[in-house]
Formats: sequence, C-alpha cells, structure tokens
Amino acid sequence: MVSSATQTPVLRNYIGGTWRQAEASETLEVRNPATDEVLAHVPLSNARDVDAAVSSAVAAFPDWRATPPQERARYLFKLRALLEEQREELARLITTDMGKTLDDARGEVQRGIENVETACGIPSLMMGYGLEDGAARGIDEEVIYQPLGVCAAITPFNFPFMIAFWFWPYAVACGNTFIVKPSEQDPIVQQRVFELIDQVGFPPGVINLVNGGEEAVDALLDHPRIKAISFVGSTKTAAYVYARAAAQGKRVQASGGAKNAIVIMPDADLDSHLGTIMNSCFGAAGQRCLANSLIMPVGEAHAHTRQRLIEAAARLRLGNGLEPGVDMGPVVSAPARDRIVATISQGIAEGAQPALDGRHVSVPAYPRGYFVGPTILDEVHPGMSVYREEIFGPVVSITPVTSLEEAISLINAGDYGNAASIFTRSGAAAREFRYRVEVGNVGINIGVAAPMAYFPFSGAKRSFFGTLHPQGRDAVRFFTESKVVISRWISGEGSRVSGIGR
Ligand code: NAD
Repeated sequence: MVSSATQTPVLRNYIGGTWRQAEASETLEVRNPATDEVLAHVPLSNARDVDAAVSSAVAAFPDWRATPPQERARYLFKLRALLEEQREELARLITTDMGKTLDDARGEVQRGIENVETACGIPSLMMGYGLEDGAARGIDEEVIYQPLGVCAAITPFNFPFMIAFWFWPYAVACGNTFIVKPSEQDPIVQQRVFELIDQVGFPPGVINLVNGGEEAVDALLDHPRIKAISFVGSTKTAAYVYARAAAQGKRVQASGGAKNAIVIMPDADLDSHLGTIMNSCFGAAGQRCLANSLIMPVGEAHAHTRQRLIEAAARLRLGNGLEPGVDMGPVVSAPARDRIVATISQGIAEGAQPALDGRHVSVPAYPRGYFVGPTILDEVHPGMSVYREEIFGPVVSITPVTSLEEAISLINAGDYGNAASIFTRSGAAAREFRYRVEVGNVGINIGVAAPMAYFPFSGAKRSFFGTLHPQGRDAVRFFTESKVVISRWISGEGSRVSGIGR
C-alpha cells in the first residue's frame, strides 16, 4: 500500500557519507507483523536517487582502491566492534520489523558479524599468485586480483540484517565501492547498521544505502557505472535480475527460492534429531531459504515421523517474537499470510491430508498479528502445487517414499537446488546422498545446512543463477577481476632470456 507519510519516521538514504531524504515522494508503510503497528515509512527511491548513490560511489572508488587492503580491513574491524556492542538492539529491530523470534534474530546478527570478521582477512584472501620463469626462461607470470568498481546488492525480507553482509564487506575490503538496496518490507535494521557505518567513518561514498522497490532495482540493474550486481530473493525476481543485468554486461550472482527436502531413513535416530528437524521446518515461521518444506520418510519411517512431527509442532507456542518462550512469530505481512493460507487450502483441495492445520490460529494477545500456525500436510504427491511451489511459511509436506533411490530421484527432478538433508545412522546412505543429490547445501543429520561465512553459501538449479556464490572466497573472486601479468626484464649481460617469449 502506498501512503503519504504521517507521524512515523520516513527512512532516509545514506549517500556520500551523509543521510539524505529520497527525492522520490512515494513511500510505503513498514509494519510490525506481530501487532500491525506502522513503524516507519520507507521511500521508494527513483532513478535519480540511485544515480546520486552511484555518482558518490564512482567518486570514492579511485582513492579507496588505492588504500592498502590492511587499512581497508581496519574499517571493518571497527565496524565489527560496534556491531558486537549493538547486537541486542539489532536483534530487537529485526524481530520488530520482520517477526522472527528474538533468538532467531540473535542468530542472524551473529551470522552477519561472522561475514565482517571473515572479510577482515582480505590481505590474505585477495592475494594473487605468481611463478618465476612461469612462461619461459626469464619470463615471469603472475595473477593479481583487482576491484571492479561500483557494485550493488539487492536483498530480501527474510534476513534483513545478515544478507547484505554476504556481499558488501568483501566487496569493500577488495577496494570496490558499494550500494545496498534492502527489502522495502523490513528496511529498519539497515538504518541502524548505516548509523554504525557512519560512526566508523568510512570515506564518503564507499558504502551507500538506497531504500526502495522495483524502480530502484531497475535503476541499479540499468546503471552503466555499476559493474556487478548481487541479488537474493525469489526465483522469479532472481531470474529477472540475472537476465537484465547480464544483458548489460554486468557480473551477476542471483540467489533464488527453494524447496528443500529432508530424507528420513528408517534407521534415523529421530529422538535425537527432532529438534533440528522442527527448527528447519518452523524456525522463522518457515521463512528461511534453507527451511525444510518437504519431508520424505523412507518406508517404515513414515508413521512414526508423522506422529512425532505432529506432536512436536502442536506444542509450538505462537506469539510476538520479542517475548520469551515464543517458538514461532508471525509471517512478514498480511498479504504473505493470506497467500500461505490460500496455498494450504489449494493443497488440501488437490488431495493433501491436513495432519495439522494452521490456517485458523488465533493469538489472543495479538489479534492483529499476521499469524499462521504450524501446518503439516501428509500424502503430498509430486503433482500437487504444495509439493512443487515454494510456500515460504510454516508449512511442511510429507511425501512418503519407498527407498533412498526414490528420494534422490524426486529431489533431483525438482526445479530448485538450494538444500537437502538426510537423517540416517548409515554412512553408506549418507555418502550416496551427498554424492548424488543435486543441491548446493547438503545436511547430514543437520536440519539447516547453513554455510559459515568462510564457505560459499551455495545453491544450484533455479535456486542460484551465476557461478560464484555469496560469502568467503567466492565473494572475493566475484568482487575482483583477475589480471595476468607476464613480464620479461632484460638485464643486459648475463640475461638468461630464452624460450617462446624471446
Ligand atoms: P523478492 O524477490 O520479492 O524481493 C527481493 C528483492 O527484490 C527486494 O529487495 C525487492 O525490492 C526486489 N524486487 C521484488 N520484486 C521485484 C521486481 N519485480 N523487480 C525488481 N525488483 C524486485 O523476495 P522476498 O520475498 O523479499 O524474499 C523471499 C525469497 O528470497 C524466497 O523465495 C527465499 O527462498 C529467497 N531467499 C533465497 C536465499 C538463498 O540464499 N537462495 C536466501 C534468502 C531468501
């Protein structure tokens, strides 16, 4: 809904080291999903707002690039210390704006900080390599990694703090300058992050914030001075962003949606693993790209898996994520709630059995909250929409299979390839699974296979468009160009130059 801003604050952009009101006059309401209260208005920045950010990033690039990597890393060390101090406040902002529980939000803050820590290692991470006489006698060859210029990230609502950190600390540490465009659904925590960035005192223009929606995204994708685009969001938008930015010669990495399966073998120790499986299905109300939304019990594992899941899910306490003891908060918005409820209804109409139905929950203390209860649909078959489509809510489908072979075939036949997990006591089954399953992140007796900052956050098929993934060494490669230098210095008498380069 577009509204005119009233008493609540209008969020600002951070461009060239100063806070600026967006030129665009249109704003959106930003609401607390537990209470429906309007928290702020977010401007829908236009192409001129984006151009202002790009101009300041272009101006900052030459000097930032020439700043030694160790010095660039020191800004990140300072930021890390401030983030650490503000951990709790940042987590509360995430919960208030997005809805996930405070514990979950604390985990998100931790994961973001870990990316800053990893990027602090840039002097080592960015090093090239060389070989004397590598080309011929007296002809040396080396590769050096150089920053690209101005880069930008477009991020989704479900990790409003962390996902921007998958990209910009690496990019900026490599000597690039940067623009972050957060989700317009929950942009508040990034205002606080940029206040801390301001406190660190990065040179003006090195790191910029532009709030907005589609118009701002298109302006970033089309801007001729932007060299690289990092995107995380739904597959539909990821495919669009990838195609549009790549058509203009930009480097692009675009992470998309997911439909992650958990295979439960008959020998799995379900008692020990129930907690991690429940967290994977219902943590953040199912709004994680690594959330498990398909359970494939093999053979006799079906009956007790179903039973244990229903018992555990029925015990989950819904409420405002800020309150202690709450297991599941609301989903991000009223339209998201309505879409999830409609998808469950469609699944049931197509023949899925509602083993636990969360469509009509009420949370008396928060009557205006956007709650969907934990939902378990059984006997879900691959033809059904709830099997195929990403629901992105607290909804799990059980698809019984007869063998590990069938489970792997079904997973590999799916469109998405973000993650998959297996629960088993058999090393042979686990090995077979990890060897053959066509996804980017594999869990073995792990429910949420979330890569640490120093590993790539992988993804395959329609869950990822591009080659180099977010985080760690992949990010360093993504934000740098490799340049090969072949050199011959003839030193007069005694020169040993020979070979093909002569
Ligand atoms: P989304 O695609 O709706 O929005 C993501 C970003 O794209 C936002 O900044 C938004 O402003 C922008 N955007 C949306 N529609 C656009 C359009 N038509 N044109 C231009 N820009 C547009 O995604 P979301 O709902 O915010 O996030 C949830 C999705 O993100 C889920 O599909 C989830 O699986 C995915 N996700 C994936 C990963 C991963 O690593 N693969 C991680 C987190 C989230």
